[in-house]
Amino acid sequence: MRSLLVSCLFASLALSTVVPRARQKVDYSGFKVLRVSLPEQRGDVEAKIEELAAHVLNPGKVEHLDVVVSPDKVDAVKKLVATSKVINEDVGAALAEEGEIKKAEFSVAAVPSESWFTAYHAYADHITFLRDLQAGYTGQSEIITTGTSVQGRTLTGIHIWGSGGKGSKPAVLFHGTVHAREWISSMTVEYMAWQLLTKYSSNATVKALVDKFDLYIIPIVNPDGFVYSQTSDRLWRKNRQTVSGNSCVGRDINRNWPYKWEVPGGASTNPCSETYKGQAAGDSPENKGLRAHVDSLRDSRGLSLYIDFHSYGQYMLWPYGYDCNLVVHNDAQHRSLATRAAAAIRAVSGTRYTIGPACSTLYATTGDSTDYTDAVGNSTYSYTYELRDTGSYGFTLPANQIQPTVRETWEGVVSMLKDV
Ligand SMILES: [Zn+2]
Repeated sequence: MRSLLVSCLFASLALSTVVPRARQKVDYSGFKVLRVSLPEQRGDVEAKIEELAAHVLNPGKVEHLDVVVSPDKVDAVKKLVATSKVINEDVGAALAEEGEIKKAEFSVAAVPSESWFTAYHAYADHITFLRDLQAGYTGQSEIITTGTSVQGRTLTGIHIWGSGGKGSKPAVLFHGTVHAREWISSMTVEYMAWQLLTKYSSNATVKALVDKFDLYIIPIVNPDGFVYSQTSDRLWRKNRQTVSGNSCVGRDINRNWPYKWEVPGGASTNPCSETYKGQAAGDSPENKGLRAHVDSLRDSRGLSLYIDFHSYGQYMLWPYGYDCNLVVHNDAQHRSLATRAAAAIRAVSGTRYTIGPACSTLYATTGDSTDYTDAVGNSTYSYTYELRDTGSYGFTLPANQIQPTVRETWEGVVSMLKDV
């Protein structure tokens, strides 16, 4: 009896300590971002850093890792690495600079105004934005869905077409926010949809592009992670899928695509890692939905251009991620489109992009989207954009940089759409 009472007491204690903690938002006050270079003999140093750090911001990067560390663990991380410097003294202060999530005020049945792009928004408001935008252009757009997340949220996007009518032209597909914390990518992808529809009747360039393609635009393909990054942990990256027998949560949906998923080195098999690839290829529901969409476009009118929008780093990358020695058959064309797009972006604001094949330019990735869309989806062009910045703010780009970022990126995307 006594032992039963004791175990009940322990169970309720355990419950009472776990529940509030899960609801509390992570406070990053005083946390630092260290940019560290790894020693020659890397061994398991990266894994040890992942254990000590609150988050690794650029997991897999060869030259240096940016890691978020609580003040009491800074010395322990420094002992593991060859060199380190503090690139952000106080992550909490940077988050305050990012700006509040603004409760959007929608006018009834009106197309959203450009002021949408001056603040970050809650998930429900992102869905309202899409629906209100679509409602203004019912003759040339429709809301689309591509499956359901772990927690039952629908992956929601918009399909836009021009004078040829719905479903008559080669497909273009833009995704954003596969990584939850990359909020600027949601805003950017939404800006593409907003520009294409609101400028169609007044801008000849936009009209020509919309008439040339069927465009499929999905701003948030990891809705559970995105919501979690707003309610609980601003720096959350993965989805919210559990692994039986392990307390760590989340698969990296961009290491989960069923193409070269099994190749070692470009993702983690540790469920606690930022780049956990999952237990089997394509075993996240978000990936299943995205993949079905890519496959169906391939089997109908074909995919001309695929862009997966991420942050940060200012890169334009193309296949392959899984092998640094492999050159895609149309590498020269990928480079030429990216060169012109990067120049178009630089002409707007001076922002400089680094371009190249993903593995040799940034780092090795397996089971990633662009390898799949190229090799299995037969997309003519497949790119990953890593948007602003190069690390000063990282994922928490201040709200006053949203408009400059989406406007410059628009010019890069227009350049690519013209060239395809
Ligand atoms: Zn990302």
